[in-house]
Amino acid sequence: MAEPERKNSSPIAPITKAEVLDPIINLRPINWFFDVNRAMSIWPITFGLACCAIEMMSASMARFDIARFGAEVFRPSARQADLMMVTGTVSKKMAPAVVRLYEQMPAPKYVMACGNCAISGGPFKFENQYGIVEGVDRLIPVDVYVPGCPPRPEAILEGVFAIQKKILGVRFWPEPQEIPSPLAEPKKAKA
Ligand code: SF4
Repeated sequence: MAEPERKNSSPIAPITKAEVLDPIINLRPINWFFDVNRAMSIWPITFGLACCAIEMMSASMARFDIARFGAEVFRPSARQADLMMVTGTVSKKMAPAVVRLYEQMPAPKYVMACGNCAISGGPFKFENQYGIVEGVDRLIPVDVYVPGCPPRPEAILEGVFAIQKKILGVRFWPEPQEIPSPLAEPKKAKA
């Protein structure tokens, strides 16, 4: 195959998009295969900081059953995990450990800030406080924010779906349906 002629012959000129040749082998289907496997077998690190961690545990137990979505293999070592759910208050004393665990995780890796404490300091954010990091994104990059104090296990599952969507580019699961509240006032019959 003849190489396209370069407009700028300088050896240090950047290559333009038009000058890039099509790959001989199309790797897109193989990459998609790996991405689907990666998204459907997320391994979270066994790691919790405060009350929100109880919700994370609840999401992994029988009623909410995170195993249905492939993310139940909680790893005791950061070196074997690709998702960090920051569930709880990040104290300044704990901050170096959070960063170290994140750095020990192999790439590609994802971070979910679960609960208002991890997002912004939550109820512990007030003037002149000195012990709390006001948002874990001040320490490490966060991919998904799950609000709530605490967020319900369903919200944590939605966070996992958002991570999967980030990996695949599409949502794998159906959108949640709005369930009518049993406390809603019944509609009045027309006269
Ligand atoms: S957001 Fe609420 S439930 Fe979660 S760790 Fe903070 S205080 Fe506890």
